[in-house]
Amino acid sequence: MNRNNRPPESLYLHVPFCRSVCAYCDFTHTVYRRENAGRWLDALTEEIRMRKIDPALKTVYIGGGTPTCLEHSQLERLLELLDPYVSGVQEYTAEINPETLDEEKAALLKAHGVNRASIGFQSHDPGLLRLMGRKHSAEDVRSCMDLLRDHGIRNISLDLMYSLPGQTMEILQESVRTALSFEPDHLSLYSLTIEENTVFGRKGYAPLDEETEADMYEWICRYLAEQGFEQYEISNFAREGKKSQHNLAYWHYDDFYGISCGASGKENGIRYDITKNLKEYLEEPGRRETVTELSERDQMMETLMMGLRLKEGISLDVFRERFGITFSEAYGEAEQSLTAKGLIECRDGSLRCTPRGYAILNSVLVEFLD
Ligand code: SF4
Repeated sequence: MNRNNRPPESLYLHVPFCRSVCAYCDFTHTVYRRENAGRWLDALTEEIRMRKIDPALKTVYIGGGTPTCLEHSQLERLLELLDPYVSGVQEYTAEINPETLDEEKAALLKAHGVNRASIGFQSHDPGLLRLMGRKHSAEDVRSCMDLLRDHGIRNISLDLMYSLPGQTMEILQESVRTALSFEPDHLSLYSLTIEENTVFGRKGYAPLDEETEADMYEWICRYLAEQGFEQYEISNFAREGKKSQHNLAYWHYDDFYGISCGASGKENGIRYDITKNLKEYLEEPGRRETVTELSERDQMMETLMMGLRLKEGISLDVFRERFGITFSEAYGEAEQSLTAKGLIECRDGSLRCTPRGYAILNSVLVEFLD
């Protein structure tokens, strides 16, 4: 369900190619081959032609994979496919891997309206970057940011990772300081989770112990606050006015189009995953691997799961408008119990976690599940 049953105002497009494979990654991608990417673009053209996309979009996000691993003419074709939908867009983001951007591509992104970049920085440490299978250095990230800024794309977010095998607190601190010296507008910091189907999983690597991970997280939150970044979501920190509008749509549990091989979307109470298998996608563009009809109760719970990740919490008016009942009518017992324990609070028309509740968000959510 979407607020007021409006069509989605956000669109995510997945580019399923990367130049190489990072050791921790389980996103949908295959190693870039020019010919395959050409065939994927043909299939994508067909999918977009078939999909009913309302052009009144507010945010567009091209993720992956690595959108900029496409060669110049292919990137141009991709951006042209989206041109009809971006005239009113406020935030148009492209994910970028530092080693795949050049002058021409930066100019192309700008010419088609991209106004935000999300770059994988991950760590400043050469040994950790090598371990992760990353082919760039911290300096490459700086050059990439300079190139984007020279071409007028100034709203830049960096992704960093912590709890990496062998990473010490000092290495993490140096990474964060190095990243900040490049003056990003936004930072996302994710702790390593190891999935079985990744290089790390197959090689038997493990993240750091829980206590070290918690210490790292605590330091990150404290240090970034001191440096003027607002933590507005569990893993996300922004300078004033630079919160990710696209990701906020996810956390507000708004609908969004998911386009291309490996993308997921949610429209009118239906969640869908488009096939991750490139061959299947080429044969049947837009083919949905799973389609889940979400019950009203599922949607309430997912609204909670996403909304409580935000520092601002969930708007109680939006909840009532969306589901036709008040939050207390839906979750009165858990609400009372968690409020009494000092884990959630209602303030200024929103329900949010207290700092103590935020630190144990999963346990808070379990109580709502019960
Ligand atoms: S982390 Fe990004 S660049 Fe690395 S393999 Fe995954 S999608 Fe590709």
